[in-house]
Amino acid sequence: MQLETVLRRLPGLQSRYNIFTHHINKVTEINDPPRGKNDALKGLLAAVKDNISTKNFGATTCSSRMLKDYKAPYDATVVNLLRDSRAVILGKTNMDEFAMGASGLNNGLGGGPVINPISDIEDYCPGGSSSGSAAAVLADLVDFALGTDTGGSVRLPAAWGSILGFKPSYGRISRFGVIDFAQSLDTVGILAKDIGILRKVFSVLDKYDPRDPTSLTDDLRDQLTKSHITVERDTKPKIGIPKEFSLSSLTPEMRQHFLTYVGRLMSLGYEVYPVSVPSIKHSLIMYYILAPAEAASNLARYDGIRYGSRSIAGDMDEHNTLFGSTRAENFGPEVQKRIILGNYNLCSASYKNNFIKAQKLRVQLIDEFDNVFNFANVLTGNRSAPDGIDFILSPTNIGGPKTIKEETSIESADELSAYATDVFTTPMSLAGLPALSIPVQNGTPLGIQIAGQYGDDQRVLDFAASLY
Ligand code: GLN
Repeated sequence: MQLETVLRRLPGLQSRYNIFTHHINKVTEINDPPRGKNDALKGLLAAVKDNISTKNFGATTCSSRMLKDYKAPYDATVVNLLRDSRAVILGKTNMDEFAMGASGLNNGLGGGPVINPISDIEDYCPGGSSSGSAAAVLADLVDFALGTDTGGSVRLPAAWGSILGFKPSYGRISRFGVIDFAQSLDTVGILAKDIGILRKVFSVLDKYDPRDPTSLTDDLRDQLTKSHITVERDTKPKIGIPKEFSLSSLTPEMRQHFLTYVGRLMSLGYEVYPVSVPSIKHSLIMYYILAPAEAASNLARYDGIRYGSRSIAGDMDEHNTLFGSTRAENFGPEVQKRIILGNYNLCSASYKNNFIKAQKLRVQLIDEFDNVFNFANVLTGNRSAPDGIDFILSPTNIGGPKTIKEETSIESADELSAYATDVFTTPMSLAGLPALSIPVQNGTPLGIQIAGQYGDDQRVLDFAASLY
């Protein structure tokens, strides 16, 4: 993409869609001119979600008042890798506050949400939480964008923007410098229109990082390469659809598109099977116990003393502490709700009943996934299923985006329905599986999710590329 052309279009698009929290205005503002240890991403423009640390390049706000002035003292590993490969970073993207949200309406900076560029007339929800990253790609301002996906936040906005959104296996891309939401689930993901560009970016970022203790080691990466050679076969991949994914919850339009897609795959000669992964039906509950619990503990550091904007409230008494008013003033309502939910599930009365149970169910879910895939899980050491499937197919979401007006009236009526949006994406997050959302067809804001066994990222991308 041509930087000069993009810079001409940017102000108009930014004021209409509110895509960036920070962006460059002139070519001369490119921070840290591409230093280029290699040319892998030369000529490509990138956007980076604003929970990914950038030094000397705007603040790193997580779209929260709490971090509105936070200047990161270092660059995230992914930012360094992009610059080393000569990508140019155009800006930091707007998001749901601290990456909590699915519709994309939880912006905490006060400037309103990102508006989905899928329509220039109506204001549609962008999908979250990587809403600005999806919008930047959809509006042709960048060739690709980085987002983060904890329970669906790359895949959902990709689906609602009719673009590609890839959440790799947990641990493949470094989280060093990515501000934690729920660190056992947080994964950096890539959004793009072009599968070739997405793959190039993935190959640049897919590296062991000694600064991230959860980064997949080189030994395990070697083991994965060997497993790939063993599964290379002449037969077409087998596809499974978990019975536990209820298609009756889909909007009629999504159901129609999904069935048509499955029909198309079958006519292309792919074998499609029903499979059973029983714990899928508990995934939403597991996720909404575990993610807020991790978040509550991570967000404890924002007290206005160690981190975070300090409250300016005057009189402090024993009920109105600096800590309390800092958090009440600077965290938005969704973040506060998650902190309460997380702490509730961590307190001694509910810890055993909720938190520990959810952890056990998570292990069970991973074992059940291991039972259906024909590719062995290098982390669990479970055997692969010899006649198992290669990929799992599902819708990415229940349906397409609503207008912001509609969504705000629904959310206020039924706050929990917002959490149900993640029903198809959270199982893959809990098991750390690679999952890609691809548009049902060009320009339609509905996605199909293709997921593979842990570590089988390359084949998920190969398969998606073969469908184009
Ligand atoms: N919608 C989910 C949540 O609100 C997922 C968010 C994410 O993946 N960051 O927690």
